[in-house]
Amino acid sequence: MSLNYGRHLVSIPGPSVIPDRVLNAMHRASPNIYEGSLIELTDSLIPDLKTVARTKGKLAIYIANGHGAWEAAITNTFSKGDKVLVLGTGRFAIGWGEWGRTTGIEPLVLDFGKSSPANPDKLEEVLRQDKDHSLKAVFVTQTDTASSVTNDIPALRKAIDAANHPALLMVDCIASLGCERFEMDEWGVDLMVAGCQKGLMVPPGLSFVFANERALAARANADLATSYWDWVPRMDPAGFYQYFGGTAPTHHLFGLREALDMLVHEEGVEQAWARQEHFAKVIWAAVETWGADGGDLTFNISDPIARSRAVTCIRTSDGNGTKIRRWCEDIAGLTLGIGLVADTQGSDEWHNSFRIGHMGHLNVPMVMGTLGSIDSALKALDIPHGNGALEAAAQVVSEV
Ligand SMILES: *Cc1c(COP(=O)(O)O)cnc(C)c1O
Repeated sequence: MSLNYGRHLVSIPGPSVIPDRVLNAMHRASPNIYEGSLIELTDSLIPDLKTVARTKGKLAIYIANGHGAWEAAITNTFSKGDKVLVLGTGRFAIGWGEWGRTTGIEPLVLDFGKSSPANPDKLEEVLRQDKDHSLKAVFVTQTDTASSVTNDIPALRKAIDAANHPALLMVDCIASLGCERFEMDEWGVDLMVAGCQKGLMVPPGLSFVFANERALAARANADLATSYWDWVPRMDPAGFYQYFGGTAPTHHLFGLREALDMLVHEEGVEQAWARQEHFAKVIWAAVETWGADGGDLTFNISDPIARSRAVTCIRTSDGNGTKIRRWCEDIAGLTLGIGLVADTQGSDEWHNSFRIGHMGHLNVPMVMGTLGSIDSALKALDIPHGNGALEAAAQVVSEV
């Protein structure tokens, strides 16, 4: 028998749950794109996006997913043959560097494996050895969505400064913006990329590049910029607020306006971070309990300080990761995230992990429903697990 009848829930690390308010804001006729309220609405997004990113820097919006923002960041700051240092802590920073290869940049990976954050001392050591400053930038994710590690961005900034190296610090916050404390200016981040479909609760289709003065200065020497990705016209209020290198993404703008009203003007960014943190602890309490007494579930990231507040990667044996996902999908009506810590999709190892996305528009029944579905799957499938996970999770919920 299937119990999958009510509203479907996605607990994946993007796209995240879209609030009904955001969907409703998008459900309307095409607006006037030449003048009037849409132009004003677009103007109003800029300060709010900067509030979320904690920056006074500049911002370009692209009609693209996160990969588009990756490409925009690269083409606006580098020239053919430039080397960048990629801090590998899973998949996504490495993916960013690889994505840039066809533009002509050369990514060099400093790999920290798939279960640890980037080590600032190692970064400092590598930068000290780069005496002629051939490395133009350091690429890192705040949250690597594959491993669910969170990197210590201020510590990495300190390492770059300690090495007295001019490399730009470029951070991928696609999974973490709005979910995890991030202070672009205070932390000395030169460039940051984000997307709208994770912590920002909007369907995929918009992405953002935030740049400080140092990143903007790099644009002057970058020979990779092409018409569409060039951030100069997009950052110019006269051009960009009305033109997106073509037709404005009208309905995404309505959706984003509603989402930013919720995040910035109603809940508040700090409160959203605190809520995300609390829900992360609820989920960790359950995972820890499942793994006790010889249970088959373990954290991919053992140190809680290095764990993401937006996604949790769990390892299993015996292909149980995929079996749990399948049961939740078919019987419960819950989509969980596929594992991304294995090298090859579909391999035996690939079936031994899954991820819980816990980003954005969440409340207690959603989080407890996700945990309850997984707990049921473990029982239905006879997967060894410690008992009392829901009890442990509820206890943490109650300590709000
Ligand atoms: C989701 C994600 C991406 C990719 O974004 P797309 O919108 O799928 O292109 C890149 N980096 C991180 C950290 C992500 O979580």
